[in-house]
Amino acid sequence: MADKRDYYEVLGVSRDASKDEIKRAYRKMAKKYHPDVNKAPDAADKFKEVNEAYEVLSDENKKAAYDRYGHAAFEQGGAGAGGFGGQGFGGFEDMDFGDIFGSFFGGGQSRSRRPTGPQKGEDRYVQIEIDFMDAIKGKKTELKINYDEQCSHCHGTGAKNPNDVHTCSRCGGTGRIRVQQRSPFGTIINESVCPDCHGTGKVVKDKCPHCHGSGYINKNVTVELTIPAGINSHQQLRVAGKGQRGVNGGPNGDLYVEIYVRPHKYFVRNGNDISISVPVSAVDATLGCEVEVPTVYGDVTMKIPAGTQTGTVMRLKGKGVKNMRGDTYGDQYVQVNVSIPKKLSKKEKDLYTKLKELDEKESIFDQFKKSFKR
Ligand SMILES: [Zn+2]
Ligand SMILES: [Zn+2]
Repeated sequence: MADKRDYYEVLGVSRDASKDEIKRAYRKMAKKYHPDVNKAPDAADKFKEVNEAYEVLSDENKKAAYDRYGHAAFEQGGAGAGGFGGQGFGGFEDMDFGDIFGSFFGGGQSRSRRPTGPQKGEDRYVQIEIDFMDAIKGKKTELKINYDEQCSHCHGTGAKNPNDVHTCSRCGGTGRIRVQQRSPFGTIINESVCPDCHGTGKVVKDKCPHCHGSGYINKNVTVELTIPAGINSHQQLRVAGKGQRGVNGGPNGDLYVEIYVRPHKYFVRNGNDISISVPVSAVDATLGCEVEVPTVYGDVTMKIPAGTQTGTVMRLKGKGVKNMRGDTYGDQYVQVNVSIPKKLSKKEKDLYTKLKELDEKESIFDQFKKSFKR
């Protein structure tokens, strides 16, 4: 991690940007680089970088420390490979994930919490795209998830021996220390994360060999996701325990999978109803006919009565989408579009001409003109 980019540069804001500007810039960047949206090979890294920058710049204390010391502010005393180790943000045990994913859900919860108590991890959010027909019929799909699992050897304490967890002497177990800073207005006392215990309030002498003292193990797993029949765009499925890792032995947050249903070429969904347009020739509409209308459950014979006008909508009851809760179904609405021929064969033209001669006495247009004058 030799060449870390400047956090302000990462978010594309100036050094005197306001809290709101930083938040707005973060949201924009996080959406742009979210690995489920952005398929560029470096999107995941960029996304991580953006989150890391925001983590610091959104926290007054961390921002103050960063403004003063740069990246070095978070590297001193870092466990092992200094600062942010490998996957995740090893250096920040005290990270507040609230704003990262909270912002996707319309503002994170504002919590005043004791920094050293067990905290449930934040929920995470991913979006997946599914086919129109898969949403109608439901399907099982697999989802690859990278998450931090609590280390089962040390149960998240990070200690080789469970008795070897002591209160941090530097911060007295509070996880925070007070730093004096001189400014033109006098001395300012800032509180920041304790560099010895990284905010946990606890230190261990011998680190757990399985997780190297971090208390968690980063895992790639594939989970089976059951998508129920009838699901629609923007509905979410929950995968328990696969969110952000908990803090200080707290449980993981959950993972929410938001569904995006790709549109169909012909079927249009409106709630649990489906609509479709079908073309019918002028002759068929005039004389009436039977057509095999496609539905999401296969073709259905539908009678088009003689004299059907263009734009007429007919209903196929129960041929819509299954209600996710219960065994009811929506309907399918079929709009008939009468298609007037643009080109006629010689024979057709003759026949139409004959029709016209039949119509000669008083055409529909003549009737219209007559009533118009009255
Ligand atoms: Zn461990
Ligand atoms: Zn401490």
